[in-house]
Amino acid sequence: MKTVYVNDANQASIICPKCGFTKEIDMTNFKNAQKSLKGKCRCGEVFGFSIEFRKNYRKKVRLAGEYRINRKEKKGEIIVEDLSMNGIRFVNLGLHQISIDDTLEIKFELDNQMRSEINTLVQVVWVKDQMVGAKFSGPKSFKSELGFYLRT
Ligand SMILES: [Zn+2]
Repeated sequence: MKTVYVNDANQASIICPKCGFTKEIDMTNFKNAQKSLKGKCRCGEVFGFSIEFRKNYRKKVRLAGEYRINRKEKKGEIIVEDLSMNGIRFVNLGLHQISIDDTLEIKFELDNQMRSEINTLVQVVWVKDQMVGAKFSGPKSFKSELGFYLRT
């Protein structure tokens, strides 16, 4: 069975084995769906494929942490709600002055056995009320720990 990889934009390219027709499908709502799927092409071919989310795996979490805006000396408490290899989504627990493109220093602990501490720089991508989405922008010294954490 052919494996189809989901890219960072949550798109998967399904290629018909018979005619080669390629279809981009949005996998956003397939996250916890079964990993083996059936496709039907416009040529009539029905084929099976499996979906691999490895490159863009996200995990729903609830981890307490804190942030600091480097230059403004502002800091606050956060709850990390969503983690991936590329970034983080968190809820801010107070009034905040975070805006898009800000660089924040983020610190939180994973709830794994080692209680690994993640302390890194992130760049804010979006802000919606108390919720903030950001991508990791510092060196990823925690990469292997985070990768393992996301897979378990
Ligand atoms: Zn086809």
